[in-house]
Amino acid sequence: MSTVTDKVVVVTGATSGIGLATAQRLLADGATVVGADLGTGPGDLGPRWAYVPTDVTDEAAVSGLLTAAVTHGGRLDGVVNAAGVAGGGPAHQLDAGEWERVIGVNLTGTFFVMKHAIAQLLSQDPVQGERGSLVTIASIEGLEGTAGGSAYNAAKGGVVLLTKNLAIDYGPSGIRANAICPGFIQTPMTHDLFSMPGMEDVAAGYRLEHALRRYGQPEEIAAAAAFLLSSDASFVTGHALAVDGGYTAGRDHGITKMLGLS
Ligand code: NAP
Repeated sequence: MSTVTDKVVVVTGATSGIGLATAQRLLADGATVVGADLGTGPGDLGPRWAYVPTDVTDEAAVSGLLTAAVTHGGRLDGVVNAAGVAGGGPAHQLDAGEWERVIGVNLTGTFFVMKHAIAQLLSQDPVQGERGSLVTIASIEGLEGTAGGSAYNAAKGGVVLLTKNLAIDYGPSGIRANAICPGFIQTPMTHDLFSMPGMEDVAAGYRLEHALRRYGQPEEIAAAAAFLLSSDASFVTGHALAVDGGYTAGRDHGITKMLGLS
């Protein structure tokens, strides 16, 4: 159990995958959660839950989301931006519209959510010296390259450094900012990706890149988000936390097999 009880948290991408698991985890831990996503939402998640349909690429809508969250919860304590899209491709084949779509949701959308959350946090008095906690969902693909990644990796790398800059700019005001960098997690996003024709071997290869030899579950990312939002993480800021089953620990090169370890 993390210590997010009674905190008011906005979670974007809350209809699916990591965002939905995060909303459910925070509600189970006693937080009030205002979820946002495209469409009608995941349904009724209980009395401390509210949902505001929001496109994170629409700054006016994001501003309205934060206003609605404060109306619902009375204040704001944290935000988890999990809204995101897959996409990219080899640069010479990537048209400008696809580049802008991927950067728009994953990077500009993160900027809009953080911008309006910070404005709200700065308007509030600190509680026990802290104004709030910002959590971005970047990726291992924001820490290192992946074949064909291009726009997605550029966006997620941007999210990592945007988050570090937020930590520096707003640390003196009592606001913490951290990025979570998930490995490959079993969600509708990766299901769609791995279901594409010809992806069977690639999907198996991705799994083997994780030292733990499995994909992650959305609940494992939600647990990290709950920690970063909580007072248990009161001295953690400006961090890019890989929650990746060892994907970024280093290469195997078949040595564990040679040694009889895998
Ligand atoms: P997901 O199941 O597809 O959930 C993403 C949610 O974001 C969907 O409900 C999606 O709605 C919503 N969304 C897309 N564009 C939006 C917009 N403009 N405004 C508001 N919501 C929007 O994917 P996920 O795997 O949980 O991914 C969550 C986050 O984790 C993403 O940022 C992703 O890049 C990141 N991530 C995922 C993995 C992984 O392996 N799954 C690894 C590293 C990082 P629609 O379904 O209607 O598009």
